[in-house]
Amino acid sequence: MSNVTMNPEVPAGVTLPIYMDNHATSPMDPRVLEAMLPYFSGKFGNAASRNHSFGWEAEQAVEQAREQIARLIGATAKEIIFTSGATESNNLAIKGIAEMYRERGNHIITQVTEHKAVLDTCKRLEKYGYRVTYLPVKADGLIDLDDLRRAIDDKTILVTIMSANNEIGVLQPVAEIGKICHEKGVIFHTDAVQAVGKVPVDVQAMNIDVLSLTAHKIYGPKGVGALYVRRRNPRVQIAAQIDGGGHERGMRSGTLNVAGIVGLGKACAIAQEEMATEAEHLRAMRDHLRARMEAELDYVEVNGSWEHRLPGNLNMSFIYVEGESLLMGINDVAVSSGSACTSATLEPSYVLKALGLGDDVAHSSIRFGLGRFNTMAECDYVADKVIGIVKKLRELSPLYEMVKEGIDLSKIEWAAH
Ligand SMILES: *Cc1c(COP(=O)(O)O)cnc(C)c1O
Repeated sequence: MSNVTMNPEVPAGVTLPIYMDNHATSPMDPRVLEAMLPYFSGKFGNAASRNHSFGWEAEQAVEQAREQIARLIGATAKEIIFTSGATESNNLAIKGIAEMYRERGNHIITQVTEHKAVLDTCKRLEKYGYRVTYLPVKADGLIDLDDLRRAIDDKTILVTIMSANNEIGVLQPVAEIGKICHEKGVIFHTDAVQAVGKVPVDVQAMNIDVLSLTAHKIYGPKGVGALYVRRRNPRVQIAAQIDGGGHERGMRSGTLNVAGIVGLGKACAIAQEEMATEAEHLRAMRDHLRARMEAELDYVEVNGSWEHRLPGNLNMSFIYVEGESLLMGINDVAVSSGSACTSATLEPSYVLKALGLGDDVAHSSIRFGLGRFNTMAECDYVADKVIGIVKKLRELSPLYEMVKEGIDLSKIEWAAH
C-alpha cells in the first residue's frame, strides 16, 4: 500500500480535522451567533418582567423567535413552548400526555429505532403502569403502516414516531401516520429533531399534534429547544413536568433562555430561507461520497432506505473491516461509528441491529453526517481516506481473503476455543 493512498493530499481550502458529524451537533451559523450576542450583554432583561422596558425588550425578542419557529413548521406562535432541548421536549410530550390522558387509556405506541430520549421515557412509563408497543422496522428502517393500524386499540392515547432517524437518516411516513392517528382519535407526537430545517415539515398537512425540535442540530446553540403543541382540531393538553412560575402557558416553568431562544428563532428563519438550495448541495455531496466509495470498494452497503432519507445522511457498512481500526485510520475526520460506547463495552448500534445487521457489520458501519459548512473538496478527501484505510485493513483480513477466494463463510465450521 503506497503512502499516497493512506495519506491523501489535503486539497486547497480544506483544513483538518474535518467535521462530518452534523447529526450529533452542528456548528453554529455565524449569523445565529450575531443575533444572539446583544442578549448576553445590554439586552439582559427577563422576558417575564412586565414592569419595565428591559423585560419588554426580552419578551419581544422571544415572541419574534416563536413566530420564526412556528412559520418553519406551519404552526402558530401560541403553539410553541420553549424547553432546554429535544430531550426535555420528548419527556414533556410523552410524560405530559400520559399523565393528562390517563383516564382515557394507558397505551402508547412507538417504534424500535427511536432516540433514547423517547425509548427511555417510554420505559419509565411502563414502570408506572403504562403499556407500550414498540413497532419493529423493516430492513429499510421504515415502519409498516399496517402494523401501526393493528397496534392501535381503545386504550391507545399516544403514538410517538420520529420524523427522521439520527443514525440512518430514514424518513418515516409522517403524513400517513398522522392521518391514521387522526382517524382513530389518537394523539400523534413526532421527534422531528433531524427533519426540521432539512426537509419540509408542516404540522397541518401532516396531522402532527405535538412535535419536538432542538436548536443545536440546525446550526443554533446547545441547550435550547421547543415543543409544538396543537391548540385546535384537536386541542392537545400536556401536564407540566416542571412546576414553578407558570411560564409557557403553564406547561413549562422557568425563566426563559432569551439569548438561546433568539438563536433558535434565527436558525429557523435561515433554514426556511435556505432549505431548498441547501438540500441540493447536501444531496450532491452525499451522492458523490457514496459513488466514489462504491466505485473503488467492494462489499460496501448503504444502511436504511435510500429513497426516504435525509439529504445529508450517508450510513455505510464496510464489510470485513474491523470498525475500531477503521475509525482510528480516519482520525482526522469526525464521523460516528455503528458502535455505541456503553460503559466499558462496545455495543453495536441498536438502530442498525433493528434493520437486521449482524454485530460485525454494524461495527464496521460509519455515519457520514453532512452539513451546511461541508464542501465537495472535503468529501473527496474523506473518500480518499476511507478507501485507503479500508483497502489496507482488508489486506490484513483473513475473512476478506477467504471471500475473495470464493469460500462461503456461512458453511465454515469454526473450531471452538
Ligand atoms: C439530538 C437528538 C435528540 C436530543 O436533543 P437534545 O437537544 O440534544 O436533547 C433527540 N432526538 C433526536 C432524533 C436527536 O437527534
